[in-house]
Amino acid sequence: LPTDLYAVFGNPVKHSLSPDIHNIFAEQLGETLHYEARLAPVDDFAGAWRSFLDDGGYGANVTLPFKQEALDLADTLGVRARRAGAVNTLMLGRRGDIFGDNTDGVGLIRDLQRARAPLAGARVLVLGAGGAVRGVVEPLLNEGPEQLVIANRTEARAVELAEDFSDLGTVSGIGLPAISGGFDLVINATSASLAGDLPPLPDDLFNEGALAYDMMYGVESTVFMQWARARGVRGTDGLGMLVEQAAESFFLWRQRRPLTAPVLMALRARLISRR
Ligand code: NDP
Repeated sequence: LPTDLYAVFGNPVKHSLSPDIHNIFAEQLGETLHYEARLAPVDDFAGAWRSFLDDGGYGANVTLPFKQEALDLADTLGVRARRAGAVNTLMLGRRGDIFGDNTDGVGLIRDLQRARAPLAGARVLVLGAGGAVRGVVEPLLNEGPEQLVIANRTEARAVELAEDFSDLGTVSGIGLPAISGGFDLVINATSASLAGDLPPLPDDLFNEGALAYDMMYGVESTVFMQWARARGVRGTDGLGMLVEQAAESFFLWRQRRPLTAPVLMALRARLISRR
């Protein structure tokens, strides 16, 4: 029988918002569970997972830098994880086997829908070609954009990524200097925002009515959001994606779907009061 112990594994993991999010979900649905942050050694994710199971653990989220290791550890993979090449959600199967899935993509799509982002028939640009992007390309293509362009500092990674998904839609990979507007939706999935940097972007980047989405969260507005707003374009951060991917993980574990909007509001209030 499943126990009620859950965790998020990462390194670092101290500032993870996942325990907050899952505890609010549990409270909202009247479920009793314990969700904690577990720091795994960079070279021994498998060992950290084993001691979690020894403690009676049942399900976990996995964040940087272990999404690949979590994929290797799983006995069975959901289609989303297989295609993404990364696992962000683990759980014990009925026979004690380990099931791995990826909820990042659906998390992004649900948040984009909430923000009424242009998707079907839209020109979509993704900046970056790292782990986060690999997990969102297929869900984005499923929304039927006119075109999906992946632009990365290291051009070869963008080209390779686009090739891996070219059977699913019109997707191309380019280097950052080759970007030319206009796009209806621009998603910044580079870690440049973390350092307060902005990838080089042309002034004609956005079409009218465009949305600028930054996967980063935790600051009031990122440099990318500020840059977009200065051009009269709506900007939103990745906090909603974080909450939505958590809700999908919660659903996998507990077969119940929490309401995300009040959780997003509570987190925003908490982040503002922490400043
Ligand atoms: P990776 O380390 O796998 O990839 C980083 C990407 O950023 C690479 O494409 C890299 O380019 C690019 N990059 C780094 N620095 C710069 C720079 N100064 N200028 C231009 N490009 C740069 O990270 P992830 O893909 O895992 O994460 C990316 C971002 O998304 C992070 O900020 C992360 O916090 C966020 N994220 C948010 C989630 C959410 O739920 N909201 C979920 C997952 C991630 P290159 O290939 O050339 O090195």
